[in-house]
Amino acid sequence: MFTAFYAGMRQLDTLVVESLPELGGQVATLYPEKIIRDVAGFAGIKGGQLVTALHKQMAAFPDFAPTVATNEEVTAIEQTDSYFTLTTSQGTRRTRNVVVAIGGGAFAPRKLAIDYDPKLEGKRIFYFVKNTANFKDKTVAIAGGGDSAIDWALTLEQIAKKVYLIHRRQQFRGLESSVARLEQSQVQLVTPYLIDQVSVDPTFKLGLKQVRGDHHIDLAVDALLVNYGFTADSRVLRKWHLPLEHRALKVDQNMETGVAGIYGIGDCVTYPGKVKLIAAGFGEAPTAINHIALKLYPERRQSLHSTQLER
Ligand SMILES: Cc1cc2nc3c(=O)[nH]c(=O)nc-3n(C[C@H](O)[C@H](O)[C@H](O)COP(=O)(O)OP(=O)(O)OC[C@H]3O[C@@H](n4cnc5c(N)ncnc54)[C@H](O)[C@@H]3O)c2cc1C
Repeated sequence: MFTAFYAGMRQLDTLVVESLPELGGQVATLYPEKIIRDVAGFAGIKGGQLVTALHKQMAAFPDFAPTVATNEEVTAIEQTDSYFTLTTSQGTRRTRNVVVAIGGGAFAPRKLAIDYDPKLEGKRIFYFVKNTANFKDKTVAIAGGGDSAIDWALTLEQIAKKVYLIHRRQQFRGLESSVARLEQSQVQLVTPYLIDQVSVDPTFKLGLKQVRGDHHIDLAVDALLVNYGFTADSRVLRKWHLPLEHRALKVDQNMETGVAGIYGIGDCVTYPGKVKLIAAGFGEAPTAINHIALKLYPERRQSLHSTQLER
């Protein structure tokens, strides 16, 4: 997000391609509630607030605000004439330069480990909440025991008719304050149970099996929201035929890989002294973008300092 902002500030047309429905990488997906203490300028900022601030920053130069394509995974990068063609889950994209910032790889939600009709996804079974209004006045089961499951249970409790929270353990692994709120809420806890069946005939129903016990429950609900965390697939890097070291992209002092025009920043790269921190990624972004800008527009000899914005 910071790279895209920076590219916009250098008046480059920029497209961000993200495999998840939302931008923000590990910060947004894995720890939006954690207070981050090692980002310059903030004594402490919640992950979610940092991502909100990055969204605002990306929009700072409206004429060069990046185009954002979410739910789109890049699967291949090929050089065609002076352009690169990215093959994605949605089609192809052409670009003069690529900045690879894929962290540990494309995130995907950890899915229910039982057979079910995939057509139920987005209708009855959800891995993301795109619009809370879809759950208004519905009976909703949420599966999971971490912060995300608890947060959604507490959020949906406000608008749903009834919320069940199904977890395989008695204890929840969330922030103490969230767990305390959960215990005082109207959310009905179903523990220690696992979902072992999903059926639709005649109505949508979950079969729940007691963990270390023989008890079974059938739970009729309108929707199931699964919050089992995320997996990251780093194997994609190996298919892109770029120089790797220790499974990370090897980059030079300009953050350029062995292929001219393909750059790498953030957790997916390596160079002597690399640290996998947000602050390091923030620093690597201007290095890559300024190098790209200089190559594309050698005549644009402008100051590297940020431009004064009109109020
Ligand atoms: C629990 C936890 C706590 C942390 N706490 C801190 C902290 O306090 N301070 C700190 O500095 N760092 C912390 N980190 C590390 C920090 O989150 C990472 O260094 C940082 O997120 C790396 O950013 P990135 O942009 O390189 O990659 P990521 O944040 O991993 O973002 C990569 C993005 O690329 C997307 N993507 C991947 N592959 C593809 C593809 N093929 N096509 C399209 N999109 C793709 C992913 O979905 C993801 O959104 C923490 C990490 C964890 C897990």
